Amino acid sequence: MTATKRVLITGAGGFIGHHLARYLVAQGHRVRGVDIKEPEFGATAAQEFELLDLRRRDNCVRAVREVDEVYNLAANMGGIGFIEANKALIVHDNVLINIQMLEASRLTGVKRFLFTSSACVYPQRLQGDAAVTPLREEDAYPADPEDGYGWEKLFTERQCRHYREDYGLDTRVVRFHNIYGPLGTFEGGREKSPAAICRKVALAEDGGEIEVWGDGNQTRSYCYIDDCVEGLVRLMRSDHSEPLNLGTDRLIAVNGLVDLVSGIAGKSLHRRHDLTKPQGVRGRNSDNSRLRAVLGWEPRVPLEEGMAQTYRWIEGRLRAQGRIGARARDAALA
Ligand code: NAD
Repeated sequence: MTATKRVLITGAGGFIGHHLARYLVAQGHRVRGVDIKEPEFGATAAQEFELLDLRRRDNCVRAVREVDEVYNLAANMGGIGFIEANKALIVHDNVLINIQMLEASRLTGVKRFLFTSSACVYPQRLQGDAAVTPLREEDAYPADPEDGYGWEKLFTERQCRHYREDYGLDTRVVRFHNIYGPLGTFEGGREKSPAAICRKVALAEDGGEIEVWGDGNQTRSYCYIDDCVEGLVRLMRSDHSEPLNLGTDRLIAVNGLVDLVSGIAGKSLHRRHDLTKPQGVRGRNSDNSRLRAVLGWEPRVPLEEGMAQTYRWIEGRLRAQGRIGARARDAALA
């Protein structure tokens, strides 16, 4: 039984923050969630929820009052289509959020501060091959991260280290590798590949076709949200202050993911590749050696199981909106 902590989750209205709040509250902690918007898919489990724009310093100071720990998830972000097209906006907003959240945490005596970084910090030169060598934490330097979003993440990783070394703020840094699951954005331009694929498969007729960005041979590894949340809390409780990968090391091509989801849906679909769309690096995988050594644990939800949960949730949302099934057919005939 862990002692009750007063916890702040920034970005609590978003995908990972929503699940993290539920997990921490179930463990008996007192959680305050903060976001610039209301949760997209239903009420938060956090005992307190405040709408605050964390690009403003006074709001950061307000958010951290009387808390022991901060999980700093708030970020202006999205999938590859969004981060490629909005570099200035992303760096502007996220630098302001992260720099001011660190400073507010220092000023108010927060005991631990966890920053959610990304596999986008890894150098492009190590990710040019679909059969990529899994990325170890020390591979991040010499630096050549994803333009915009990745540079900001790497910069804030460094600032966490400076705050720890210069001011004694106890920081944790996690590098996520493609987190997916229910309650993640699945349309509107910010969705990531697993959610986008589930939506496209759910909306397609059996025997029809779906659009795939790039040639589909680009590879990634994917981590289910339940594992992500457990890993996050384990890292916060650990004494490891250097950046740590959190993902799976099962590499799969986007085409393979499309086929997997089609199988879950029981549909036979043709893939139409759009080579004009961004596909990101050619291959990316997580080396989990340090994760295992530090936490004595690693993600365990199989991709088939996690994607089945995710597909059912997205399909259910679309069905409830009348976009698949009998109502959608009636509307198309009308
Ligand atoms: P998300 O977009 O669902 O959640 C981020 C939340 O931050 C959103 O609810 C958004 O409204 C909020 N936010 C944005 N600007 C804000 C502001 N000015 N003030 C207050 N809140 C603001 O994203 P997520 O998938 O839950 O990601 C959480 C964190 O993990 C982010 O820092 C993201 O960069 C990082 N990350 C996620 C993944 C992934 O696969 N999901 C991968 C790598 C890193």
